[in-house]
This record gives sequence, structure tokens and C-alpha cells, in this order.
Amino acid sequence: MRFIDEVKIFVKSGDGGHGCVSFRKEKFVPRGGPDGGNGGHGGDVIIVADSQSMNLYDLQYKKHFRAKRGVNGGSSDRHGKNGQNIYVHVPPGTVIYDADKENILADLDEQGQEFTAAKGGGGGRGNAYYVSSTNRAPRQAQDGKPGDEKWLVLELKLIADVGLMGFPSVGKSTLIAAISKASPKIAAYPFTTLSPNLGAVDRNSQRKFIVADIPGLIEGAHLGVGLGHKFLRHIERTKVLVHLIDLDPQSGRDPIEDYEAMNRELAKYDEKLTDRPQIIAANKIDLPGAGENFEAFAGYCRNLGREVTSISAKDGVGLDELLDRVEKQLAKITDE
Ligand code: GDP
Ligand code: MG
Repeated sequence: MRFIDEVKIFVKSGDGGHGCVSFRKEKFVPRGGPDGGNGGHGGDVIIVADSQSMNLYDLQYKKHFRAKRGVNGGSSDRHGKNGQNIYVHVPPGTVIYDADKENILADLDEQGQEFTAAKGGGGGRGNAYYVSSTNRAPRQAQDGKPGDEKWLVLELKLIADVGLMGFPSVGKSTLIAAISKASPKIAAYPFTTLSPNLGAVDRNSQRKFIVADIPGLIEGAHLGVGLGHKFLRHIERTKVLVHLIDLDPQSGRDPIEDYEAMNRELAKYDEKLTDRPQIIAANKIDLPGAGENFEAFAGYCRNLGREVTSISAKDGVGLDELLDRVEKQLAKITDE
């Protein structure tokens, strides 16, 4: 699976159905009253934010969306059926631009939020509508209005469901490489040299999710150094944080100190992020002496009432258990 964060699509709404010219046929009446019905509305093309949809990948293959036209009006005052609306599902965090990418037309942040990308044409009026005291037998009906058609550019600005936090060299990049199937396409972020390291996790379960390394969080990031607004938003949008701790006894790091320092930084960076569910994983359990480090750290976590999973990103140990915890947490949030 590749992570596609920009795609161009074509949308066309349905034309309106034409109004009908018709006169009632009655026995012994040579010409009855006018009974031509109205045409139906053309269907709209609606883009909807749907958290089941993880990226814009599918739209690479199906990029034309045409709604049906309204049915023409009929005799006996039958109005034509409206063309059905069609829905294009995109992940929340999708921004919709016009074809030249000059104007933002919509910013679909919230689950269920909709944008009518192409409004269906109105149905034409049938001749029954034009009856008046001066014109009892109008031969006039209206054509349906044409639908609307255009190209749009969709861009996904949400990059991750899961943010990976931890000091440099704790193994964030290694973990992302170990749990994701492919290296996703990374958008160019002109505002910073720190480009997020992304991975798409797809374990054949229902939900795929995107994990992003949060680079530079610790390196003065709360001061805003080198971090653009756009990047801050990415972190704010992550639903779950995985806090990675280094167990390597040779690293000169202390897991408990690291854990606390990191959380202090997080709070300085954005107080709101301290409420974000945090899953603690202790890495490099394969190294000699890491076991003792883990025991001490796990004891500390127990006292806090926190769970911690030991893993080796390098050897692939404990990763299933960690991903189970992440998935459970994501499911909890999405189902709320
Ligand atoms: P990052 O800075 O947090 O992205 O850390 P990296 O993924 O670049 O890893 C830093 C170093 O730790 C690299 O040399 C990795 O090979 C090593 N490393 C990462 N995970 C493990 C692990 O589970 N066990 C061991 N022994 N080394 C690891
Ligand atoms: Mg790295």
C-alpha cells in the first residue's frame, strides 16, 4: 500500500430532467387539460469525510464521479425521479481545491462533514405548471438545467493517526520500518527540514492506520524552532501517541527520567497533548542488561497505573502486542 496524499478527480452532477408537454386523454374529450409533469433534479456529487477511509489511494484508480440525471417528467402529472446523489468518501483532514489549486473550496476536518462538489441541475417544469386563467392549454415546458462538471484536487493533510514520540535514537525509525508494509510517499514540507517519517500499518484487520515519527519534538520544538503551523496541526491530529523508551544500558539514558522529561516537553509544546492517550513501549529488549532496565521501568509504570510493553523493533519482538494495544485504543476513540 502506498500513501497517496494528493489526487485529482473529476466530478459531474446529473442534468435536470426535462418537463413534459402532455394533455389528458379522456373518452369523448378531444383534448383534456394539460398534465405534463416536472423533470427530476439531477444527482449531486458530494464529498464526505469518512474515518473508515484512510487515504486517497482508491481515488487514484477511480477518479471520475458522475451522478445520474433526473428523469424527464411524464404525462398524467408524473414528475420525473430525482437522480441519486453520489458520495465520494475521503479521510477526515482532506482539503478540496479547484483544479489549479488556487482556491480552497472546503476543508473536511470532521467525521461526516460534507461538501457538495457538483450540484445537480434542476428539473424543468412540465406544461401543467403553466396553466393559468388566460392559458388553459399551454404547450410550453422547461428543459432541465444542465449539471455542473469540474476537476478538483484533493489533498490529505492529516498524516497520522498515531504519533511516535521519543528521544533521538530510541528506535522510532526502526519501529516504523518494522510495522509498516511499505514506505509511504511523503509530502514535501517546505516549512521545515524535519520531514515526518511515515508508515502505513495494515495487518489485514479492518482498520489501517498511519504512524508518524514526530521528529524534533524534544529538540526545542515547543519553542517553535523550525516547526511550521502545518506541522503542529499534524501532531494535534494524531489520536494516539506511542511513547518509545530506550532500554539500552549502554545508551547512558535512564528510562524513567526520559519518560518524565518527554512528557514535560510535550506539555510545554501543547498542554492539550497531555490528554492524548499514550501507549508506552520500551525498546531494545534484545540487548544484554535491557531486561533489568525493563523491570525497573515496568515497576515505575505499575505505580502510575500505566501499562508498558517491551519490544525489540530490530528483532520484531513484542510488536504484535504493541499494535494490538494501538488498535484497541484507536477503535475506542473512533467508536466514541
Ligand atoms: P530514532 O532516532 O528514534 O529514529 O532511532 P533509530 O530507529 O534511527 O535507531 C537508532 C539506533 O538504534 C539504530 O542504530 C538502530 O539500529 C538501533 N535500534 C533500534 N531499535 C533497536 C532494537 O530493538 N534493538 C537494538 N539492539 N537496536 C535497535
Ligand atoms: Mg529517526
